[in-house]
Amino acid sequence: MIHFIGAGPGAQDLITVRGARLLGEADVVIYAGSLVNPALLEYKKEDCKVYDSAGMTLEEVLAVMEQAERAGEETVRLHTGDPSLYGAIREQMDALDKLGIFYDVTPGVSAFSGAAAALQAEYTLPDVSQSVIITRMAGRTPVPEGERLRKMAGHGCTMVLFLSTGLLEEVERELMDGGYGPDTPAAIVYKATWPEERVYRCTVSTLAETARKNRVTKTALITIGGFLGKEYERSKLYDPAFSHGCREASR
Ligand code: SAH
Repeated sequence: MIHFIGAGPGAQDLITVRGARLLGEADVVIYAGSLVNPALLEYKKEDCKVYDSAGMTLEEVLAVMEQAERAGEETVRLHTGDPSLYGAIREQMDALDKLGIFYDVTPGVSAFSGAAAALQAEYTLPDVSQSVIITRMAGRTPVPEGERLRKMAGHGCTMVLFLSTGLLEEVERELMDGGYGPDTPAAIVYKATWPEERVYRCTVSTLAETARKNRVTKTALITIGGFLGKEYERSKLYDPAFSHGCREASR
């Protein structure tokens, strides 16, 4: 059996209880060494075999899984954050289906949740934004034309950009061409929840400069939108004048 597990955004104790248990039972661990905090490997068994997938191809990863399966071993495939986002798990699952190898998936805390915690912010504020667009700037990996950053920017809602820290000049241009004003608040969150976490607050027009000044080139998320500002409406849910299924209005 192969267990795909979300390792969380970085902090050693932000893996789920289930993820940590499965990791502790595994005979083989294949982890994405470029992004998964190696401290998580402390949860594994002493004699567990460890592979860093950073330098491996899909075929090599699958070969390790097949070999473990033949030996009757449990394998954990540890992905950063939540495996459903930019995790390349679909191609692994499809290949395992062909090989007749069973697998399951344990979710993880995505870096975008880690970034909100680092910012002490709420992405969905009444009267500011009720939607979050998670996307990336097209780079060496293309993005479908309908999802071009300037088109997504047209909604003016909260945005979180993965995998885009090296392309911030283009990001600024696309966001402003799409409709965000240059002074729209933005933030770069570097290594959210890691010990070396850093938060750089700026605006849409100063993203590239802020990253350059602070030498941030990777392992960061770009967040954009009015949720980083001061203005919002308080929630209806906790408003004394608002009745709902669990509470009558008190005035
Ligand atoms: N599946 C992961 C994302 C993998 S893509 C998740 O759910 O979080 C890798 C990108 O995620 C990085 O290039 C970076 O943009 C972002 N990232 C991963 N961990 C991060 C962290 N701790 N802080 C900020 N960004 C992070």
